[in-house]
Amino acid sequence: TQLKSSNLKLLGMLVTLIFGGNQGDRKTLIGEAITEMSSIGKIELCSSLYETAPWGFESSDSFYNQIVTYETNLLPEEVLDKCQATEQKLGRVRSGTQFCSRTMDIDILFCDSQIINTPRLTVPHPRLAQRNFVLAPLNEIMPAFIHPVIHKNIATLLAECTDTLKAEIIGKKYVTFPEDSE
Ligand code: ATP
Ligand code: CA
Ligand code: CA
Repeated sequence: TQLKSSNLKLLGMLVTLIFGGNQGDRKTLIGEAITEMSSIGKIELCSSLYETAPWGFESSDSFYNQIVTYETNLLPEEVLDKCQATEQKLGRVRSGTQFCSRTMDIDILFCDSQIINTPRLTVPHPRLAQRNFVLAPLNEIMPAFIHPVIHKNIATLLAECTDTLKAEIIGKKYVTFPEDSE
């Protein structure tokens, strides 16, 4: 039998991004970054907004984090380009040290169930299973998703994570999508 073209839906890649920042107007900056990144495709899933103490360094300025899954037709490295351009646009200054204060950090957590290891990109994000601030919002939107390298689902990774930093929900689940505004 022949497939009718009207029965085919071309699905893009589902790319899951984490947005975070601990400088400036954190909540507004995350909203702006999520909207800016929607140029890569449609928002499919969105976590609540979380607040977490800095991971890996000392600072009195806590981080706000939010996770969003987009459906995109771009390649993973093209998504990374857009993440880095958005960080720049929102005032990030690259200091050379890895764990430091910043207005915006956008990391790629997953690209479907792909495993990517290039000089610029490691996917799944190599440190996600060690971080409550990643696993708590991921568990909210995709608890049954199986990590393609560790082969455990997100709920299990969160239950087994030894990170002692609390990730607390401070904002509503959904962002205001651009098309919702008047
Ligand atoms: P961490 O990766 O531990 O969260 P960070 O986000 O502070 O640390 P950055 O200084 O923002 O680290 O990024 C350093 C480099 O990481 C980037 O230039 C980018 O090429 C590379 N990178 C590798 N894998 C990824 C990924 N999955 N998402 C984003 N950047 C990545
Ligand atoms: Ca990061
Ligand atoms: Ca980063």
